[in-house]
Amino acid sequence: MVVANQKGGVGKTTTTVNMAASLALHGARVLVIDLDPQGNASTALGIDHHAEVPSIYDVLVESKPLSEVVQPVPDVEGLFCAPATIDLAGAEIELVSLVARESRLQRAIQAYEQPLDYILIDCPPSLGLLTVNALVAGNEVLIPIQCEYYALEGLGQLLRNVDLVRGHLNRDLHVSTILLTMYDGRTRLASQVAEEVRNHFGDEVLRTSIPRSVRISEAPSYGQTVLTYDPGSSGALSYLEAAREMALRGVSVRLDSPHGQMGAQNDRHSMSEGIQ
Ligand code: ATP
Ligand code: MG
Repeated sequence: MVVANQKGGVGKTTTTVNMAASLALHGARVLVIDLDPQGNASTALGIDHHAEVPSIYDVLVESKPLSEVVQPVPDVEGLFCAPATIDLAGAEIELVSLVARESRLQRAIQAYEQPLDYILIDCPPSLGLLTVNALVAGNEVLIPIQCEYYALEGLGQLLRNVDLVRGHLNRDLHVSTILLTMYDGRTRLASQVAEEVRNHFGDEVLRTSIPRSVRISEAPSYGQTVLTYDPGSSGALSYLEAAREMALRGVSVRLDSPHGQMGAQNDRHSMSEGIQ
């Protein structure tokens, strides 16, 4: 599952780590791949990611096996993280001259033999080679959308990139899930944006949206997800519910279609139509 949106600060990392922790708490085995040089997902999961730590940079650029960089997340059983270090900032340029530059992450994941139920990839806020590697490696795209005025601006470019990658490099790829984040039900703007997103995307939008919550934003400073930091908070409960909805949908898509997710994807029109 590729968590992507090239707009910065919309809740990609928060969604990645909290959805991953929720799935793990439901009993799944989950790997978070931190593909952002900022390393925010690694920080939020309490994983050391100073410059010497073996990281996803070594996997992408030096062809190190993924199993040599994956670390278990403290406090959450079944949750693992491939950390990002600051080296990754150079990878965008270093990858350009390497063979199979778009599919290096895909190859690393294919060679990873540990049993997993989900892999969530936290993308940087750009559409460069790192995000392309994630899109080539993944089956599904999860787009967090912040309920603010500019929410849909630029989204068309992401959707066109998804279409391009599907057309040329990864025919399994589809946008399966949209999650509304930082929703403030007291403002008319938030509900207008939510309505616009729901009208445009329909069933891809999870019914559960994530409220703006101080607990969610505090958790990373303790190296924790909100699920362990304050399990009873509204933020924790909404991520648990969103993850449950996403997991159940995944099951029903596989059961409904003889071709599994491929069938669902082929019926779907190109979603970049109609958005700028
Ligand atoms: P970037 O593009 O820089 O990678 P991002 O899309 O990963 O950003 P986050 O880092 O997840 O976004 O979130 C941006 C900021 O908003 C962070 O400070 C985070 O703690 C805060 N935040 C995210 N979701 C919520 C929420 N539901 N309630 C309150 N604060 C939130
Ligand atoms: Mg981030």
